[in-house]
This record gives sequence, structure tokens and C-alpha cells, in this order.
Amino acid sequence: MAARIQAPIVIVGAGIAGLSVALDLAPRPVVVLTPSPLGKGVATGWAQGGIAAAIGENDSPALHAEDTLKAAAGIGDPTIAERVAAAAPAAIERLIARGVAFDRKADGSLALGLEAAHCRNRIVHAGGDATGAVVMAALIERARGTPSISLVEGARAVALCTTDGRVTGVEIERDGRRSVLAAAAVVLATGGAGGLYANTTNPLGAVGAGIALAARAGAELRDMEFVQFHPTAIVAGRDPMPLASEAVRGEGAILINDRGERFMADVPGAELAPRDVVARDIAREIAAGRTVFLDARQALGAKFAARFPSVTALCREAGIDPSVDAIPVRPAAHYHMGGVAVDGRGRTTVAGLWACGEVSATGLHGANRLASNSLLEGIVYGRWIAEDLAGTPADTVAPRPAIATTAASDTANTLRELRQLMTNHVGVVRDNDGLRDAIAHLAYDAGDPRPAIADRALVGLAIAVSAHRRVESRGGHYRSDHPMALDTWAKPSRITLADLTGIAEIGGCVAPRRRATA
Ligand SMILES: Cc1cc2nc3c(=O)[nH]c(=O)nc-3n(C[C@H](O)[C@H](O)[C@H](O)COP(=O)(O)OP(=O)(O)OC[C@H]3O[C@@H](n4cnc5c(N)ncnc54)[C@H](O)[C@@H]3O)c2cc1C
Repeated sequence: MAARIQAPIVIVGAGIAGLSVALDLAPRPVVVLTPSPLGKGVATGWAQGGIAAAIGENDSPALHAEDTLKAAAGIGDPTIAERVAAAAPAAIERLIARGVAFDRKADGSLALGLEAAHCRNRIVHAGGDATGAVVMAALIERARGTPSISLVEGARAVALCTTDGRVTGVEIERDGRRSVLAAAAVVLATGGAGGLYANTTNPLGAVGAGIALAARAGAELRDMEFVQFHPTAIVAGRDPMPLASEAVRGEGAILINDRGERFMADVPGAELAPRDVVARDIAREIAAGRTVFLDARQALGAKFAARFPSVTALCREAGIDPSVDAIPVRPAAHYHMGGVAVDGRGRTTVAGLWACGEVSATGLHGANRLASNSLLEGIVYGRWIAEDLAGTPADTVAPRPAIATTAASDTANTLRELRQLMTNHVGVVRDNDGLRDAIAHLAYDAGDPRPAIADRALVGLAIAVSAHRRVESRGGHYRSDHPMALDTWAKPSRITLADLTGIAEIGGCVAPRRRATA
């Protein structure tokens, strides 16, 4: 029998999900890996709106769960939505105890904001529109002051080591060198996948790394086709793209094209229609060769800078003055509802492996995420995963390296093409031909010897194949060739590496081939 060794729990990623698990596990020893300095490259730090929790007098977890399930468009998990909504008030209390200073009213009670598709004011926020930055600062300070947490900066997880089907360690890359870290258990908390797209609001390192790690270890993926596109990312020559939040439209700003036409005037809800509807209408204009602008000149004019100081600053950097200029915008990949399938304890389908935060698919968001539910999910599941891990042994079988080392080489061109392919064919509006084309190219790139290409292509392939299989439109997934939701498809989707390996014929898909480099 193989010798067993003492090992910590290894948490891959240091956003709200990773740090919540680490803090909730204390005093049990954990190692937290982050490729960047702590606080950098995390979507958590960029969150503006806040965190949803039913703590208002006229609110209840049942109403919060109801709104969550409505947004989820028929494939949210009612049990999970009810459990997460019920756990939300305590999660906010935990953050307060960890030093997060949420905004309060004059009477000292928490200030509760309202966001689209919430039937009550229930968005807890901090520093006005700086919730994520305030939360990250508090969690980092706590984590640094907790002796059981070892924070390893500059370390990227590149593979999971498995022995007899159980995860026993993580292979990491640090300062250009590979090493293996034994783990009593591994928690993936690597965030989203927006960086796979040419237009995104996510940190560029958010490329679904945890999804690729889990898939290669045999884990099941869920609801991969559901990507939420934010309609109004600012076209300011920046990558990733800054956001002009929904609040700008809430203040009366309208959407116009370069002919000066208000193209959403006749749509129910006009510019305040659901996020996916607005994103699609903007995408249609752009596909027709138009440029789209967010026009706040009449609604706000000279008041814009005082109401939206951060949007103003971002625009000014690009030479745009929102009080006198319309702001050029386009949709951008913003949130991934799909990910590594987990159960109500955060367990993946592979022994020894848990997933938390945006990398996971819990069933909470279904086909579409309700605003401000994602930070909440990270905190709530962080606690549930820590409780589940409390019973696991603190030793493991000594792990062996999982993958051969590949010499570093230039990947920039291929990655640029891959991101453009995702935006063009697996983006806001999809159809059979585009998806088949994308699948052919992604299947080829998934076999690339360079892990940076292969892993991204694998995640893109899982999204494209799931989108191709779902012959309907629902939530964040829209097919122009099948624009209606169908009852037969009102169920989550599942996919594994085995489904993707050697893909040559997917619903008549052409065999994998090299992408044209023109
Ligand atoms: C602009 C913007 C605004 C948003 N506003 C809100 C909001 O108001 N409310 C809300 O609820 N949600 C909001 N969201 C969504 C929310 O911020 C994210 O869903 C959430 O922060 C995800 O947390 P996480 O811990 O899962 O991932 P992240 O915070 O992104 O952290 C991921 C971590 O994993 C690390 N990592 C990645 N790959 C590897 C690897 N291979 N090895 C080791 N580490 C790795 C990253 O470096 C990082 O440390 C917003 C998102 C964006 C982009």
C-alpha cells in the first residue's frame, strides 16, 4: 500500500471564494495559490454593485430565491436558491465581523440598493460603487493575519495530480519552475472565463483555468453554454474593457447608433430591458456595420461627472467627455454561469476536489445570473465547503507530477485569434454554422502542445459544444437559428473531457482543422 504523508488543503485562487474557504477553515493549515500579487487579477476587486441579501424589513429569503429562479430561466435549482438566499444575511454578518465597512444610512442600518430584477432593495454595498475593492482589502488583511493560512504569490496551478481517481496534489509553476504540492484536498477558486473572449470586462487571467484542471482530472462540467454578456462595455481601446454600469441607463441615458437612431425605443422596457436583450440588440447593430453609443448628454449632461466619477475618469482617458460626447459601447463577456459541476457541499464529481465561486456551477444561476448573487455564492459556498472539509483526513498519498514540461514559447497570436473566434462565433448571438466552425478550430487547438493554448481551447470547446447541443435559446444562450426556449431543454447540461476528446463529428461538424491566420 502506498505511503501516506501529512499535507495541507490547497486552495487555487485568492478572490472572494478562495479567501472565504481559507478563513472559514482556520485553524486548519491551508495553502492559497495566486499567480499575481494578492489582490491583483481578481474579478472580486472590480465588483461595483454589491452583494444581495434579504435583510430589509419587507424582504425575505423566499423572495430573494424567487427572483434568483426567475433570472435562472427555468434551469435554476430551487433547493440551492433557497439555501443560498437563507444563508445570505449571516454571510453579510461574517463579512462585517471580518472588517468590511458596508455603507450605512444615517440611522446606522445597512444601506440597501436596488438592482435590475430584484423585487426589493437588497444590495449591500461598500464605498459607493467600490464594494469589491473594500471586501478584498478586508479579506486580505484577515488572511495575512491568520497563521494557518500560507499565501503563495506568483504560483500558478498547471495540473492536478491524481492517484486511483483521487486528487492528491497540485502541480504548480513558479518563477518558471515546476513543482508538485501534496494536498489532503484541493479547492478550485480560479474565477470566471471572460478572458477567453476578445471583448471582456474580466481580468485577462480569467480564462477558466480551474475548469480545464478539473476536466483533465475527469470532473463533470455543467451549463457551460451560459455566458452573461454585459451590454455596455466602453470601447476605449482598453483590454479588458471598462464598464458603464446599468445605473447610467437607469438615470435616463439612451442607446443610439451612428445614424443617431434610438434603436431600442420600441422594445419593451427600452434601454432597461433585461441585460441579454439589450446585449443582443447592440450586437445586431454592430453586425450591421453600425457603431453604438450610450448617450447621457440630455439625461445627465454636466451632472454626469458628479454622479459617475469612475466612468467619467475612464472615458476621459480615452478622450471622451460624457457630458458632451456619446460614449461608444459594445457587449462584453462578463460572467460565466457554467463551470465545474458541484453538489450542495461544493464537491465535484472527482474525489478530493471541491470548487467554489465563479469556476463552479452550483445550479444557483441556471441560465442567467441575478445581479449581485455571485459574490454571495462565493461567501456562502466558502463556508459550506469549509464545513465539509472539516471531516477530511489531513494526509494523502504522495502525488506524482501530472504533465510533461513544455518549453515556453510565444502564444500571443494564437491566443488573440482564439479570443476573436469565441467573440465571433460563441458570443452574444450564435448559430449552427458559426458554432460548427468554432468547434472545428477549438478542437484542433485543444491538442496544441502549449498548455496556455490547449487549456483555453478546451474550455472554449466545452462552451461551444454545449451551445451547439442546446438547440434553443434560454437565458445567456441565444441562437438566431433557434430563437425560442423549448420545454424539452428546460434542464441543465453536463459535459466531460471524454465527450470532447477526439471530437471530429459533432452533429455533422467538420473534422478539426487549422484556423486561417489571415
Ligand atoms: C467589472 C465586474 C463587476 C462585477 N460586479 C459584481 C457585483 O457588483 N456583484 C457581484 O456579486 N458580482 C459582480 N461581478 C462578478 C464577481 O465579481 C465575480 O463573479 C466574483 O468576484 C468571482 O469570485 P472568485 O473568487 O470566484 O474569482 P476571482 O475573484 O476572479 O478570483 C480568482 C482567483 O483565481 C486565481 N487564478 C486563476 N487561475 C489560476 C491558476 N491557474 N492558478 C492559481 N490561481 C489562479 C486568480 O488570479 C484569482 O486570484 C462583477 C464582475 C466584474 C468583472
